Amino acid sequence: MVHSFRLRWLVVGALFAAMGAAADPRATPPADGPARTIEFRDGRWFDGEGFRAGTWYSVDGALTRTRPARVDRVVDLDGGYATPPLAEGHNHDLQNAWGARRFRERYVEGGVQYAAMLCGDPGGTAEAKQALGADAPLDVLYASACISSSDGHPLAMARRDPDGSLRPVEDVHDHDYLVMDSRDDIERKWPRVRAARPDLIKAVLVHSERPERRGDARYFGMNGLRPELLAPLVERAHADGLRVVAHVESAADFRVAVEAGVDMIGHLPGYQIWEGRGEADYRLDDASIALAARRGTALIATAGAAQLVAGDDAGKLERVRALQRDNLRRLLAAGVPLALGSDRFDATVRAEIEYLSALKLMPPARLWRAAVEYTPSLLFPQRRIGRIAEGFEANFIVLDADPLRAPQALDRIRLKVRRGALY
Ligand SMILES: [Zn+2]
Repeated sequence: MVHSFRLRWLVVGALFAAMGAAADPRATPPADGPARTIEFRDGRWFDGEGFRAGTWYSVDGALTRTRPARVDRVVDLDGGYATPPLAEGHNHDLQNAWGARRFRERYVEGGVQYAAMLCGDPGGTAEAKQALGADAPLDVLYASACISSSDGHPLAMARRDPDGSLRPVEDVHDHDYLVMDSRDDIERKWPRVRAARPDLIKAVLVHSERPERRGDARYFGMNGLRPELLAPLVERAHADGLRVVAHVESAADFRVAVEAGVDMIGHLPGYQIWEGRGEADYRLDDASIALAARRGTALIATAGAAQLVAGDDAGKLERVRALQRDNLRRLLAAGVPLALGSDRFDATVRAEIEYLSALKLMPPARLWRAAVEYTPSLLFPQRRIGRIAEGFEANFIVLDADPLRAPQALDRIRLKVRRGALY
């Protein structure tokens, strides 16, 4: 997101006032005991296509269908719909202590067990981890090395204090994000990248095909890396075993990012149409889509962020939705892997599920797999998560209703389980 940071915070404030007023009336779930083996009986379990009745066991936090010799505890799911939990592939709400304290519960209550915070700094990340707590039923990746140009996003956003005053640019540079304007900067500042111990690297492109933006004061602090820097940056990161997520705005940014070999693309271009630009600036070309498919470049679409940018302007949103449909249809047909993230402070990834569901571009089971199977495995490729399958971590949530019929089934989460423990 570039434009609507301030607006988002206002929305957050309003929502929070409303949420605080309505305490959760549900009964407390059973406390977690020392049980090593648990039988979860009479559930309907997501198998990638639909929900299938059966019983699964958790043994030392891993799923199995084989009944262990001793069952310490039986949990009756009473026909509930058990699915792997949600993953938030793109947000910023847990990337400092303030956010971690305020938004932690929304993840926990909403059945989101995995997340990626996509532009932080090392200090904020350390404080966020502490605020989140080591025992949070939530695994978070931090892009604690966030790289952009000296006149780039997120400068404009980061320097604005709550009272409207502006922090000096020098206070933000190489603090809130790392500045790289030349190839030399990549080598010179790489020790800082390493020192940040990032789980991911974030690299920012914003209409990189329009160098004339750089001389225009209106765009100061909203630009991004020069396009020719991305490939060497990705190469440097990969040499260190680090993955790169690119923030992109335009179709040209998308092409630059895919050709540079980034691992993930943080937005579907066109969630906002910048002033003076039109659909053609955001319509992805087929060759770039084909290359992304071949390389397996993941797309974290954040399509629903368009709702925040459009605000009350229904015409503007419909224009963006038409553009998104066209791009997404071709991306999905080509087999570009779709991951889910909301990039919203006023919502969880659930808003993105609902937004994509309403676009009706894919069967519900495919969307659900993207949400609960692909996104977690993209974030944590070493772990056996995202499926109800033999040997996978016993992480799941149980819903009253079938979420493939309507994602609003997420309104009623009966039970949440993490490595076999109920919470
Ligand atoms: Zn973002």
